[in-house]
Amino acid sequence: MLWSLLKIILFVVIIAAAALGAGMIMETEGGVRIAIGATEYNLGPLQAVIGLVALVVAVWLLMKLVSLLVALVHFLNGDETAISRYFDRNRERKGFEALADGLMALASGEERVAMAKAARAEKFLHRPELTNLITAQAAEMAGDRKKAEAMYKRLLADERTRFVGIRGIMKQKLEAGDTETAMKLAEKAFALKPRHAETGDVLLALQATQNDWAGARQTIGTKVKAGALPKDVGKRRDAVLALQEAKEIFAEGNSIRAREAAIEANKLSPDLIPSAVLAAKSYTEQGNPRYAQRVLSKAWQAHPHPDLAAAFAAIEPDETPAERLKRFRQVTRHHPDDPETRMLLAELNIAAEDFPAARAALGDLAETDPTQRVLTLMAAIERGEGASDDAVRGWLARAVTASRGPQWVCDKCGQVHSDWSPVCLGCDAFDTLSWKVPVEGEVKMPGGAGMLPLLVGAGPAVPAEAAPASPVKGTEMPPEESFARPPHADYADPEGDGVAEYAPEVEAPHEK
Ligand SMILES: [Zn+2]
Repeated sequence: MLWSLLKIILFVVIIAAAALGAGMIMETEGGVRIAIGATEYNLGPLQAVIGLVALVVAVWLLMKLVSLLVALVHFLNGDETAISRYFDRNRERKGFEALADGLMALASGEERVAMAKAARAEKFLHRPELTNLITAQAAEMAGDRKKAEAMYKRLLADERTRFVGIRGIMKQKLEAGDTETAMKLAEKAFALKPRHAETGDVLLALQATQNDWAGARQTIGTKVKAGALPKDVGKRRDAVLALQEAKEIFAEGNSIRAREAAIEANKLSPDLIPSAVLAAKSYTEQGNPRYAQRVLSKAWQAHPHPDLAAAFAAIEPDETPAERLKRFRQVTRHHPDDPETRMLLAELNIAAEDFPAARAALGDLAETDPTQRVLTLMAAIERGEGASDDAVRGWLARAVTASRGPQWVCDKCGQVHSDWSPVCLGCDAFDTLSWKVPVEGEVKMPGGAGMLPLLVGAGPAVPAEAAPASPVKGTEMPPEESFARPPHADYADPEGDGVAEYAPEVEAPHEK
């Protein structure tokens, strides 16, 4: 603001001074007298000013001429490029000006201007690695895929720009859904620049989606070697890939090799839950239940998880509930206050029909962390202790609206997965699943709490079939089995028929 005001004032002052000066010159008497020998030149005031300007121009031209003469002398002395350099300097200046304009146009989103400027810059500079890059980017911005691809292909020719060209074409192939070509290009680009994070990630994601686990392990190894990935992250990812490799070998039916692969994957990252489960299975099949138990209890120490408990139960499928409770001490002595450990103990005690112990194991979880599983366990305990149908139904009704508790959730996009997988089904990201409570994953019934009096207060006046059964059909509640049976009750089920002992009673109380 102040600066523009100053500029305006300065402009007015200069104009006033020029007008004043011109007036003074017009009115001045006399002039400039130049005497050369006997000749005398008399210049009027205006002529003198014009003469001065002409002199300045003449000096500038003379300097240009002198530098051209110098170039000519150099040329005559044997420097063959001296004259062409003299003219090139001009061309270079114009070329870089056009290049700068092109870059500006690119940055401000004027893709047509950028392409025109790049063509002009190329005319003066002959630097295709610079100008083709601008043209390619501008063509990409303008949606001219063919031109962009042609430019990227030209970039391939120069060693300095080959990576940019490969990456450009790779992105185009990815967008077009041609993953096979994209993967080959990603491999080439990654070989050129193993430290380039984005290329490595693209290659890894492509290899993972195409189940090329061995290739992906190689990529991880190269990334770690190049210092583009921290060692511990690399180790963990390698373990995830090794696990997938093992799963594939299992699917192929080569069980001996698969067992070895599973055990190796577990050694790479002992706290990776699915790999501990698979390794335990392998050890059990090898007739090594002690090793299997150790692997699982070690993983439980790192992170309690129902899948670990289920695998631990599967080691001895034929034991009695009391034997099972005793054997599980190896697991449950770790993290005794973790909700997972408490629920596991409750389920084991329910299976052993020691309901007071089950209640003690759960403690205040029903108040502090009332998930569907906790509330369903409470219903089972109430049923076991001989409480009324209304009390049992009360717990089950609460379970319907409760949080489902932790799940496999993608850290990147938040998608919930029923089973662990190395690649997110939502966003294709690699190794992003964490066992945690989803942010918006809680199933809430519309007007959920309002339903409760109807269910809980169902006294003798309400026909028995009308109690929990019929509202289920009418009010978008999840199917009964999703809450009647804890999602991981299988390890509290020594019979191995998939239904825990308490479950039939809870599942259909109205049928009695
Ligand atoms: Zn995701």
